[in-house]
Amino acid sequence: MAITRRGFLGGVLATAGTLLIGGRARAEADPPPPAAAAGGWQPAYLQLEQQGRLAERAEQARAMLQHCELCPRRCGVNRLRGETGVCRTADKAVVFSFQPHFGEEIPLVGRHGSGTIFFSNCSLRCVFCQNWPIAHEGRGSVVDDQRLAEIMLNVQRMGCPNINLVTPTHIMPNIVQATRIAADNGLRIPLCYNTGGYDSLAAIQLLDGIVDIYLPDLKFMDAAEAERYAGGAPDYPATARQAIAEMHRQVGDLITDERGVALRGLMLRHLVMPNRVAGTREFVDWVANTLSPATYVNIMSQYRVEHRAFEYPQIARAITANEFLEAMEWADQAGLTNLDQRSVMQRELFRQRVG
Ligand code: SF4
Repeated sequence: MAITRRGFLGGVLATAGTLLIGGRARAEADPPPPAAAAGGWQPAYLQLEQQGRLAERAEQARAMLQHCELCPRRCGVNRLRGETGVCRTADKAVVFSFQPHFGEEIPLVGRHGSGTIFFSNCSLRCVFCQNWPIAHEGRGSVVDDQRLAEIMLNVQRMGCPNINLVTPTHIMPNIVQATRIAADNGLRIPLCYNTGGYDSLAAIQLLDGIVDIYLPDLKFMDAAEAERYAGGAPDYPATARQAIAEMHRQVGDLITDERGVALRGLMLRHLVMPNRVAGTREFVDWVANTLSPATYVNIMSQYRVEHRAFEYPQIARAITANEFLEAMEWADQAGLTNLDQRSVMQRELFRQRVG
């Protein structure tokens, strides 16, 4: 049975506070071979480090915290002095949990699960946030970059085929520095940048040659809907499209190894929402016309009424089977050829339900 993100989070919340300790203990085990190792494939950050250029990137990234514009909120605060902006984060990451996750897209899971590291806080703060106890309430432990590097190495020792960085936007500089430390101590699996899409173009450009797999959301296509539901951010559709186009320019369409495990490329998520507020038809057309019809696209059906969504009548219910079926039909009409397997299976289930 597929494990949903919600179910996974429920389990995580039930054991909050023990997971960091659990992850540390498992570091003693012998590492299974990384999925990518057999073919001589190397993650992008390792090549940059071997060229002596990763340290410079880490310095550039940290300097961005002096006048923070890592995301389009452009708070301009000096996070190195402890000031905080919309994301409520100073100069260190807050980690809620890390562990293998089997509910992610199949190419990310492999045999041992995607190596998720859940970061606390977020700069977007959607009213329907499906991760709100972590993203809005900031639960977790403050970790320095050395400790974050240890967590990455622990995830690799668990046999995970990637480091899945969940909500990384506001702590990108910490991720780059930790990646450098971890690479020097044996990290060899690709970074998966699992972002809500509200990233500044400058931040994504700095990650060129560091991140192999981008896993962004594109939540809304319309400024008014984004302003209403995505933390008062009418610029979300435009800035997210710009950032995602840059991600695609860097890594292209998804490439997997001989076992179907992701090595490099863009994997795009879109959550279907009630009453067409997510702009799914515009989304699939934009992907096909601006990126590539071969883009890996996960059209997701699991919208739940979470956080403050019940206060907004248009999104205060789950989606219907017909809303998901029309979304998948639009994807077909747009010519998208690489739809997520679980979304295709979900379409079959809904088809049977509506007859
Ligand atoms: S990352 Fe945080 S402090 Fe920086 S611009 Fe975004 S919300 Fe503001």
